[in-house]
Amino acid sequence: MPPGVTVPCQYRTGKTLGSGTYAIVKEAIHIQTGKYYACKVINKKLMEGREHMVRNEIAVLKRISSGHTNIVTLHDYFETAHNLYLCFDLCTGGELFDRICAKGNYYEADAADLVRTIFKAVKYIHEAGIVHRDLKPENLLFKTPAEDAAIMIADFGLSRVMEDEKITQLTEICGTPGYMAPEIFKRTGHGKPVDVWAMGVITYFLLAGYTPFDRDTQEAEMKAIIAGDYKFEPEEYWQNVSDTAKEFVRTCLTVDPHKRPTAAEALKHKWLASASPIFVTSS
Ligand code: ADP
Ligand code: MG
Repeated sequence: MPPGVTVPCQYRTGKTLGSGTYAIVKEAIHIQTGKYYACKVINKKLMEGREHMVRNEIAVLKRISSGHTNIVTLHDYFETAHNLYLCFDLCTGGELFDRICAKGNYYEADAADLVRTIFKAVKYIHEAGIVHRDLKPENLLFKTPAEDAAIMIADFGLSRVMEDEKITQLTEICGTPGYMAPEIFKRTGHGKPVDVWAMGVITYFLLAGYTPFDRDTQEAEMKAIIAGDYKFEPEEYWQNVSDTAKEFVRTCLTVDPHKRPTAAEALKHKWLASASPIFVTSS
């Protein structure tokens, strides 16, 4: 760890907020100030040989996290003999995943507001030369429990710094299957366009309450993704969704990454372009 390392006894950990692939995230109180944070605890033994992933996450967060209101802020980090600790500003509103599940699905105008906000943060990340690679509703957190709380992009554990604008620079297979772009499975090289694909899957999920490539087996899911095989069905879930919204999803889910819009282009799409869109629906 670089200089500035502090000791973890400055914090007292509390309840578990969530867990992911490599970490447990706990509420932590800074003893001196009484302020609450979210502390990502990573077991060094479990991460053996992959410590560089955590150092990468820290490096990326240091580069971008205080630069945008919709990206979680890394507040502090330190390590002990057994664990690495990443201390973030606390998001108390839970995951977007849980809100979608609780609601069933989002009203189209609310979905567009969320997607616009997230895409603006994605554009910022991309302009900073970073690809997130694990955008999904479990990694999008609400700052407070309020209905209109700010949404925050979290979990830069799989992110990468891109050395140039080439969109086929990365090759390893990683991410969460249902949100992974076709070029990741095809191993033809990938880059920033994978985040736009994931945003297409997230938008579909927001509008319908289920994901587009859900299949019985992981292999069938992968085949469907590579073929771009999904539908706006069953009809009852899509009848009140505008053609503009469907067209937006379709454009983000363009199989060829070279033809997929960039984050900046997606933001210019009719569905997102105006702040309070008026939707014409079929009902
Ligand atoms: P992993 O890389 O293991 O997926 P994440 O960074 O995604 O780790 O954190 C796992 C979970 O912990 C998240 O999905 C979320 O529920 C919770 N979490 C992460 N960061 C915060 C935070 N700043 N505030 C509140 N909860 C958080
Ligand atoms: Mg995660």
